[in-house]
Amino acid sequence: MTSIATLGSHCALQVLKGAKDEGFKTILVCEKKREKLYRRFKFIDKLILVDTFSELSECSSQLKDDDAIIIPHGTLISQMNSSQIESIKIPVFGNKWILRWESDRKMKEKLMVESNLNVPKTIHNPKDIGTLVIAKRHGAAGGKGYFLATSEKDYNKKRDKLIAQGIIKGDNDLYLQEYAFGVSAYLQYFYSPLTEELEFFGVDRRYESDIDGLGRIPALQQMDIDLIPSFNVIGNSPMVLRESLLDEVYSMGERFVDTAKRLVAPGMNGPFCLEGVYDDNGKFTTFEFSARIVAGTNLYVDGSPYSTFLYDEPMSMGRRIAREIKKAKK
Ligand code: ATP
Repeated sequence: MTSIATLGSHCALQVLKGAKDEGFKTILVCEKKREKLYRRFKFIDKLILVDTFSELSECSSQLKDDDAIIIPHGTLISQMNSSQIESIKIPVFGNKWILRWESDRKMKEKLMVESNLNVPKTIHNPKDIGTLVIAKRHGAAGGKGYFLATSEKDYNKKRDKLIAQGIIKGDNDLYLQEYAFGVSAYLQYFYSPLTEELEFFGVDRRYESDIDGLGRIPALQQMDIDLIPSFNVIGNSPMVLRESLLDEVYSMGERFVDTAKRLVAPGMNGPFCLEGVYDDNGKFTTFEFSARIVAGTNLYVDGSPYSTFLYDEPMSMGRRIAREIKKAKK
């Protein structure tokens, strides 16, 4: 019997609940420190306990015995490098090769630009900072250690502080991008290679610490605080878009799917997310993509305002993944 497995973090509950609802056996690769938490959930059939997720490859034979398919999520990407992910011996849902394109900022930019998405300008040298920029770490760092800068001097000061705090090692850890102003939105999609259809599943916003907390403090007090605000994701909140924006949401997703097919076979199969901001003209700037399920889909375990238009039953992204596997098996 095929089982569905994932790492115990990020969106594991949603993924395994969805898998159970679709009739699969469910397996969680779980760090010992989180065992108590995950034992609370009866839809998890089996826990494989590890000290750290880097032991995933050592669990291969157990997972093979269970005919497991791994659902990758943000924790897999932050805990394992691209080569380690590519050498996983168990089937990985989606396209494990595209995860390298997500982790490498240059490849990521290429995929977005070739998809004809509106992308913020990359600043290749801190000397060229002439406007508000955001310094981001490579990989899926979840916004931790990211900071804003308006000049080279400002950048150097903040970079040195983060080096002193042990958060980054140096310039090579950072990628500079123009800051895009507007209303942030994280667009969640699912592409089925079986039907060749793109489904828009939902949209969320992120609450990021410290940047979102700062807005609660008056400007005078903000100026008194010696803080480099980071963009560390703490949680997500739901959002719906003006209906007039939906057509372009689909077009952007379709362009991304088409480009992924061309650049990184077999393409952008399964869940993905385009992340960015809408400006005052309703134009979307994409500063980032995730080529796998995002944690923002955890909001919609009972379906979203958009999945309701596509399915007559509650359809979470986790369940949608399991449904695809079921259909593919047939
Ligand atoms: P994840 O993998 O969780 O998506 P990440 O480490 O790849 O995170 P980004 O999503 O690129 O990081 O950035 C983290 C946050 O920083 C974003 O959610 C957003 O708030 C902010 N951000 C990133 N790039 C820009 C930009 N160019 N303009 C404005 N805000 C930005």
